[in-house]
Amino acid sequence: MRSLFIAGNWKMNPGTAEAAVALAEAVKSGVGAAADVRVAVCPPSVYLHRVDQVLEGSPIGLGGQNMYWKTEGAYTGELSGAMLVDAGCTHVILGHSERRHGMGETDAQVNAKLHSAFGVQLIPIVCIGETQDERAAGQTEDVLQGQLVGSLAGLSPEQMAGVVLAYEPVWAIGTGLTATPEQAQDAHAFIRAWLSNEFGAATAARVVVQYGGSVKPDNAGDLLARPDIDGALVGGASLKAADFLGIITAARSVAAKGKD
Ligand code: PEP
Repeated sequence: MRSLFIAGNWKMNPGTAEAAVALAEAVKSGVGAAADVRVAVCPPSVYLHRVDQVLEGSPIGLGGQNMYWKTEGAYTGELSGAMLVDAGCTHVILGHSERRHGMGETDAQVNAKLHSAFGVQLIPIVCIGETQDERAAGQTEDVLQGQLVGSLAGLSPEQMAGVVLAYEPVWAIGTGLTATPEQAQDAHAFIRAWLSNEFGAATAARVVVQYGGSVKPDNAGDLLARPDIDGALVGGASLKAADFLGIITAARSVAAKGKD
């Protein structure tokens, strides 16, 4: 049985280290010690050290929002996986749509980062998802397959089992539009079937596949109850502790009831 995993992507927020510390403190106290649902927060890199100090003694993971594939050297502005680990990170988001579509990140680059993340034992959260135009053109599955093939190339089944995937339809990110639970489940089932074909059913059954795209406390329960939706990557709602904790509460209730 896969544990539900809720991760908060703070993006380029909040505006000060003090505000980041306050948000992390509120999340830590709301989550408490129970580990029935996995939780992580992914603050901007300049706040990682401070947030790591806040999270000491808590089961909450800490994630970077990006990393470079090289381990050191003359790469101005980049961060290595080892630097993220040194700052306290356990996770790293790779291939977020804001990097793929806003900054031209390619599947090959995501793949290089993924292999580099494995080199330092960071748990990667690899994002994939189609745009509105691609969905309207009936290309959702082709787009997902292309991103899966390119981003996950060269992984062993054991490495694959350690990857967290995040299905994030681009049209649902930060827009207030959410995929219906049926749309999301269909995409997740397609991803699981692809994993099974490529890596075997046993590996596919172990891979956590999060949904991301305007997840809020009031829609989280319906999404997380679907058989192939194993958690959420949360943007906007992770910036308000009450909302993020509301999503975690919804996940806890799904975890307590169990899925069919
Ligand atoms: C995200 O940034 O990964 C995301 C899903 O954002 P939001 O929840 O704001 O749509």
